[in-house]
Amino acid sequence: MLILSFFLIHWFGSLFFQSFFLHRYGAHGMFKLNKTWERIFYVCTYIFQGSSFLNPGAYAVMHRLHHSFSDTKQDPHSPIFFKTAFGMMMRTKDYYIALIEDKMKFGEKYIKNTPSWEVFDRFSNKWGHRILWGIAYTLFYYFFAEHWWMFLLLPVHFLMGPIHGAIVNWAGHKYGYQNFKDTDDHSRNTLFVDFLALGELFQNNHHKYPNRPNFAVRFFEFDPVYPVILLFNKMKILSLNHSLKQSL
Ligand SMILES: [Zn+2]
Ligand SMILES: [Zn+2]
Repeated sequence: MLILSFFLIHWFGSLFFQSFFLHRYGAHGMFKLNKTWERIFYVCTYIFQGSSFLNPGAYAVMHRLHHSFSDTKQDPHSPIFFKTAFGMMMRTKDYYIALIEDKMKFGEKYIKNTPSWEVFDRFSNKWGHRILWGIAYTLFYYFFAEHWWMFLLLPVHFLMGPIHGAIVNWAGHKYGYQNFKDTDDHSRNTLFVDFLALGELFQNNHHKYPNRPNFAVRFFEFDPVYPVILLFNKMKILSLNHSLKQSL
């Protein structure tokens, strides 16, 4: 029971901060955060992604490239050029490493208003720290796993962030239906597995309206992160961009 709870908390916690902080805030600027809250969410994202923490600045630039060049050769992760999701992940990894080395070579316009925290970025990107997270997950399993096969879940913990990225980018541009046929890419809404992805799999809606905080469009679609954004807005933790409020 403890292992299952740990797995679910890690899966959905990591996914929530990837969607809320890295994607909707860092890459799209759907809402504003003051410096204190930005740093609190920066650290929360680090804690929940742990060994596979994705640098918020690098993530934002990579994601903006995905929107600008969706499903073309310059897209960092389009499934249409790969036979397997693993092949696509390897290409994404190359982009990510190149971005960590030098974001500027992808063009200054992609860097504008992306989150950065130099000291923390240097600390969180160290291999030693990633390995320590991995050891912590393994120790948790060592003490609490009741069956040997539970250890098979460990690789998912090690690579949580990239696995979420691969599911969203692979399925969201390959399987499902389209509400909008005029998005110039292969994006789709993968409704039946979206409960595993917290709204991120409404890719077709999102490519049509990239800055809209609610990824759901039709009455039967539900984006679970959106009510949290509204709640945080009410609590004055964040402020939704005024121009975006019109399109809600
Ligand atoms: Zn997409
Ligand atoms: Zn996006």
